Amino acid sequence: MKFGVFLYQPEPVEGVDYNFYRIKPESGTVGKPNPKMYTNIACFGDNALAAKRPEWISTSANGPAFRTNKKFNLRWDVLCMTNPEVREYNLKLIEDCARVTPGISISSQHFAEHAFCTCPRCVELWRKSGLNWVDWRAKTANEFLAEVRERVVNKPLFVNCLPDPLLGKERFGYDFDAMAEYTDYFVIPMFSKAYPTPWYWETIARGYKSYLKKPMFVNFYVRGPGETWETVATTKQILTVATRAARTGVDGIIFLAEKAQWIQEFQKNAVADKETREFLKDHGGDEVLELVNRWESLF
Ligand SMILES: [Zn+2]
Repeated sequence: MKFGVFLYQPEPVEGVDYNFYRIKPESGTVGKPNPKMYTNIACFGDNALAAKRPEWISTSANGPAFRTNKKFNLRWDVLCMTNPEVREYNLKLIEDCARVTPGISISSQHFAEHAFCTCPRCVELWRKSGLNWVDWRAKTANEFLAEVRERVVNKPLFVNCLPDPLLGKERFGYDFDAMAEYTDYFVIPMFSKAYPTPWYWETIARGYKSYLKKPMFVNFYVRGPGETWETVATTKQILTVATRAARTGVDGIIFLAEKAQWIQEFQKNAVADKETREFLKDHGGDEVLELVNRWESLF
């Protein structure tokens, strides 16, 4: 099993296999690539571009894909994924980063939700395709993924998918078997500010693992931007949910934090929590406990 971190600042940490830098998170800000870190790019979720070009927003009968639209659970503004300018803007960034960093991870490379996108261009493309709505959307999302793959030459490609193993195709346009032809790894973000009930996360991980045809990582939330240690899960909860996910057979676990310092504090807290480490033995997720054993030598 592999381990990684998912950071909003370009400073890597020790003690993991993969350091991901979110060069363009859904806020839409763009940083500079770090050749020592894998690069994560959020594609169509882009608040900055949506503010600059609001006419590029994805649309539905229940309104546009702005965060302010309370009919949907939109965590960021989502642009139309058939917009040629938005596609090329992201593909160019992906290509540039793939040249200088060890690999690429993409997020929000899909439709905003089941009802999107009904802009005139999308409706016209759908009509011309002769496909039903769900299949046209899946084909459209997969064609974008194929274009991403062409720009990521001889480097690993990680594709993030929202944590719905049941209705991913209907909601977001995920055709997992077709996607497996282009991606090297699937990553399932399982972000929450608390993990009091690991049972649900374990269930989602097991569900995805049962059918994905490429290795699959999960990603847990340690301390994102704007948080304090009081507003996020305890180290005990994160160690527990990671151990419980590990026993489903996932191929890797990633931890999200705003910056390296928060991961280092998490690592120290994990090492210090001997009681939880002892309790989690024999749960079937010993690789997480072995990771914490290795972290002992870091400090
Ligand atoms: Zn559209």
